[in-house]
Amino acid sequence: MKHVAILGSTGSIGQSTLNIVESYPERFAVASLAAGRNIDAAFDQCIRWRPRVVSMASEELAAALARRLRDKGVTATEVVWGSEGAVRVATVPEVDFVVSAIVGVAGLEATYAAVRAGKTIGLANKEAMVAAGEILTAAAREKNVALLPIDSEHNAIHQCMRAGARREVRQIWLTASGGPFRTLPAPEFRNITVEQALHHPTWVMGRRITIDSATLLNKGLEIIEACRLFDLPPSAIKVTVHPQSTVHSLVEYVDGSLLAQISVTDMRLPILYALSYPERVPSDLRFDMASLADLHFEPPDLERFPCLRLAYEAAEKGGAHAIALNAADEIAVQAFLERVIPFTGIPDTIGQVLQATRETHPATIKEVLALDGQARELAREVLAGREASQRC
Ligand code: MG
Repeated sequence: MKHVAILGSTGSIGQSTLNIVESYPERFAVASLAAGRNIDAAFDQCIRWRPRVVSMASEELAAALARRLRDKGVTATEVVWGSEGAVRVATVPEVDFVVSAIVGVAGLEATYAAVRAGKTIGLANKEAMVAAGEILTAAAREKNVALLPIDSEHNAIHQCMRAGARREVRQIWLTASGGPFRTLPAPEFRNITVEQALHHPTWVMGRRITIDSATLLNKGLEIIEACRLFDLPPSAIKVTVHPQSTVHSLVEYVDGSLLAQISVTDMRLPILYALSYPERVPSDLRFDMASLADLHFEPPDLERFPCLRLAYEAAEKGGAHAIALNAADEIAVQAFLERVIPFTGIPDTIGQVLQATRETHPATIKEVLALDGQARELAREVLAGREASQRC
């Protein structure tokens, strides 16, 4: 029996993880949950799963949840809060496996604490790998902890990597759906609305990652994530646009062989793979061979999708620039969702923040968080400057 902690239990990855746990009660059990701000969902999850520990984003939310649980007669669940609460969730002694799915750098400390505590990690929070990849992979090596990617592309690469030795890999190919604007002419990008950008053709996901898929910044974060997870230089990570999202990614070996992983577009499969690794367990997530009839691949357009170019730049510099890429994007996406800036303002803002970022490499999580804060501040200044210049 594997005892699972979920960081980000009320998000889409968290819910899919609970769905898998529910399907395999003989293999997996829920030990602890970090639920964030959605108190109704957190309450329902506590009633259903009776975790030993649950964490909320704030003290007020924790107090409210504790009251509601007490009223229901649930007293065995300890309610904690904040980043310390998330660390507590990740390090409960009986936990074997931690699903890291808190969006943004909020889950960073908890993920790091889980690695230090020797827990196996299912990594769905790509920002953790982007912002603190060097630190996390070093700690994982030291503690002999497996970092198993749940992001569908990296999960595919992890699977394909099992076919050969690391030195036999020439390069890897990350597939990108291309998002909703794959064929949109360049002049129309300025007028893209929030509603259009939130409508992703193949995956149903959270709001930020959906916008990041539309700008291809998500793929950019995945390039950096892949560099860290698989210890490869940015030049060995290629992107191919594949609108069907059927091939989840490919590994190219030195002899010319390309290995691809193909499956249904359902996050439950990478979650199940990570949870049961190195075993494979039967599931009903069957793939219909008929859908292989029409697969399409094309090179990405870096002119219409400058976020991809910015990500390669940040990947080459690493350290503070990878942190700034992620932090500036989060601020810029929020501004776009609030209709403060146009769609094209997202790469503009990130580009300016990257340019103003000094090249450094943090050695601790604390330093990562400080650099993250600085990059956010810089992004807000860029946005404020933009507003001021528009008023003139
Ligand atoms: Mg992905």
